[in-house]
Amino acid sequence: MEKCKNYINGQWIESSSGDVIEVNDPATGKIIGEVSCASQAEVDLAVDAALQAHQSRVLIDMLPMERARLMRSIAAELRKVANEGGELLCRENGKALPNAIFEFVDAANYFDYYSGLTDKLEGNTIPVNNSVIDYTLLEPYGVSAHIVPWNFPMSMLARSLACAFAAGNSTVIKTAELTPLATASHFTKAISNAGVPAGLINVICGYGHEAGSMLTAHKDVSQITFTGSVLTGKKILHAAAERAIPAVVELGGKSAAIVFPDADLDKVVAAAKGGIFGQAGQICSAMARVVVHKSVKDELVEKLAEMASGLKVGAGNVNGVELTPLISEQQLQKVENFSRSGQQAGAEAVAGGKRIDRDGYFFEATVFDNVKPDMTIAQEEIFGPVLSVLTYEDKDEAIHIANDTAFGLAAGVFTKDINQATETVNQMQAGQVYVNSWFTGSVATPFGGYKQSGYSREKGQEAIKSYLQVKNVGIQL
Ligand code: NAD
Repeated sequence: MEKCKNYINGQWIESSSGDVIEVNDPATGKIIGEVSCASQAEVDLAVDAALQAHQSRVLIDMLPMERARLMRSIAAELRKVANEGGELLCRENGKALPNAIFEFVDAANYFDYYSGLTDKLEGNTIPVNNSVIDYTLLEPYGVSAHIVPWNFPMSMLARSLACAFAAGNSTVIKTAELTPLATASHFTKAISNAGVPAGLINVICGYGHEAGSMLTAHKDVSQITFTGSVLTGKKILHAAAERAIPAVVELGGKSAAIVFPDADLDKVVAAAKGGIFGQAGQICSAMARVVVHKSVKDELVEKLAEMASGLKVGAGNVNGVELTPLISEQQLQKVENFSRSGQQAGAEAVAGGKRIDRDGYFFEATVFDNVKPDMTIAQEEIFGPVLSVLTYEDKDEAIHIANDTAFGLAAGVFTKDINQATETVNQMQAGQVYVNSWFTGSVATPFGGYKQSGYSREKGQEAIKSYLQVKNVGIQL
């Protein structure tokens, strides 16, 4: 059984309350570990450690080349623990083992990528008049708080942390209560082995409504990055507004792919396999809806149903597994309720539609045909392996249906006609649009939402702006 502590000021420490959070394996429901649950005392210690590190200027005064070298050491240490850390992440999250190992590799990629920006944080010189030299400096905020979701504990953490660190901020990370183990153990080990000075990166474990809200309300936190649900995102924005500090928010989605009559339907099926059934659909930018032209609807639905029914079901560490469990009993019940509501509203489950009768929290790969745009299963984020198929007759209707939800995270277009593709892309209200594929991004591509999916951008060069403030300097000659 894995037992983990909080990592504060370079030390692993227990919570003063003695409280722990138990963590289970979603494939069996059995307890596999516990973490020490941070209370106000540990939140204060972590923020104080970060503040001291910031005020010591250890990172700010480090030569950019040195900061880059330190970040590459973190990347190297993350790669060293990738296999072991990935195994633990696979067990606590339920995701397929190769994907869990890749999260550590992806985390390393973020540190490598952002290490390249440390010596490119350049300001401007601004012409004012002949007797003034005016220029801008880009400076870190200070203590940056990162609140992480359970679905990608390592890669979501690294995508914001590496960027904040490259910009010179000190950080406090709150892990997700359902999946804290790999972060609290293998990630903190990598940070320590890389020689990161004490206090620059602190990791606490705890519940969102306790440690999470204590952290976002803390008087010494200067910037917040939150990845999670819309509901919690709004609470974070309230907390940030109370203290007038900036917040990065990356929220949920209900993304749609438009399928034109000329599309390669096998590409749509391949995209849906990873896009909605990968990680049991628990991906913010999942391909949750297919909006297909009526002339090819029956053929596509048949192919989708055949693919969904044939997926190999099992725990994440089973070789070649394609459908893994949901994160918890609560999530499983939520997905069951959505599925029931779809059937009651008149949608037809042509594949799946119910929980799987075995240990753990498994739900069948489900394809709903005859979904209407106003149904709950067409509007709300299910966060499960449930694909809704909607039908259209003309292009304007397709675009209207695709855009007609509160979210705007991702979207897709399937067509062989490049003009049709680009015209449609221009009309999609989403932060990223994939053509003839799904999930094409990398650490270098900006990622974020439109509408309720959040307004921030993470990844790529764009993201660094969220972790820097601009100082204007005027020198009278
Ligand atoms: P969640 O909002 O329940 O929790 C996210 C994190 O916030 C957790 O660490 C939780 O402990 C913490 N939290 C909860 N209440 C809090 C509070 N009052 N104050 C501070 N912190 C609090 O989300 P989840 O269920 O962990 O994650 C799933 C959601 O995340 C989905 O909606 C998904 O779409 C979204 N998500 C978005 C992205 C993105 O990049 N846009 C990526 C991954 C997940």
